[in-house]
Amino acid sequence: MSERPSILLVDDEVSNIEILSAVLEEDHDIYFATSGEEALAIARTALPDLILLDILMPGTDGYDVCTQIKNDPLLADVPVIFTTALGDQEAEVRGLELGAIDYIHKPISPVVVRARVRNHLEMKRLRDDLAKLAVTDALTGLGNRRRLERTLNVETARLSLSGGLLSVIILDIDFFKRFNDLYGHTAGDRCLTMVAAALNRAVRHGSDLTVRYGGEEFACVLPEARFEEAMEIARGIRERVEALNIPHSGSEAAPTVSVSIGVATAPCVPGAPPEAWIRAADEQLYIAKAAGRNMVSGTIFEVPVAATVE
Ligand code: GH3
Ligand code: MG
Ligand code: MG
Repeated sequence: MSERPSILLVDDEVSNIEILSAVLEEDHDIYFATSGEEALAIARTALPDLILLDILMPGTDGYDVCTQIKNDPLLADVPVIFTTALGDQEAEVRGLELGAIDYIHKPISPVVVRARVRNHLEMKRLRDDLAKLAVTDALTGLGNRRRLERTLNVETARLSLSGGLLSVIILDIDFFKRFNDLYGHTAGDRCLTMVAAALNRAVRHGSDLTVRYGGEEFACVLPEARFEEAMEIARGIRERVEALNIPHSGSEAAPTVSVSIGVATAPCVPGAPPEAWIRAADEQLYIAKAAGRNMVSGTIFEVPVAATVE
């Protein structure tokens, strides 16, 4: 949520929108719609932080709009508050059961509207923060393993529609146990943070995901990256880590901290298990370790597709 939260006001009576807008425009960016259809279209492009929704509208009414919002993965988390002249409990219960978070009765009281909107926006901010934390690694600020799994699921499904390529990189710091033993755990943590930053600089901005996969292991998801592109990025990671120039007198691979890297590329096909990329990249990482560390090993592999039951 940005500094100024945005609110979508939906009402077929323009005068109602004007009243609500006057109450809220000072502290919020306001979008408005005068029909259910328009509301859905604007919600999908503007992605507001909150929606104030009238129930009684010709055509797609507020209940329909709310139902469609809650069924749309893009919008399901946006809180909906019904604004209605209807006073009866049945209408309120129906709206709440459809996933609305609250009710505001018309004619509106400006102080009540402001207070409710503020509370619901605060709760949304907390929920958003919590959702982000759940997929973030606390030490490095990269994504965590859960984020990796989620992204792999989404990308393999998306790319299988076109048979697009997916590449995965896994890297592991060489002799890191000895690094901790020699320089201490705090220095180890600092080293992990620096490697994470080097990793972020080496990947393609916007498209690639970088995560801390486990203790001193990191991974990248590179959608639509050809094998050679992925190898090039992996070599860039290795060089950038070397260039950090962090002394490591316990390493048998280099005088400074280094990483071993596995790369795996395959075209996505329907039913391809996302773990296949992790497994293949992990095998390559093992090969790089066995061959002396501080190097990159990669493969173009064939995705095993689970037999489908007719
Ligand atoms: P290899 O070259 O074969 O990868 O050897 P290694 O010593 O790096 O691998 P190993 O798996 O034996 O040890 C990994 C070490 O990573 C063990 C642990 O002390 C360290 N480690 C894992 N998580 C953290 C962390 O969050 N902070 C710090 N400082 N160290 C960590
Ligand atoms: Mg390891
Ligand atoms: Mg290691």
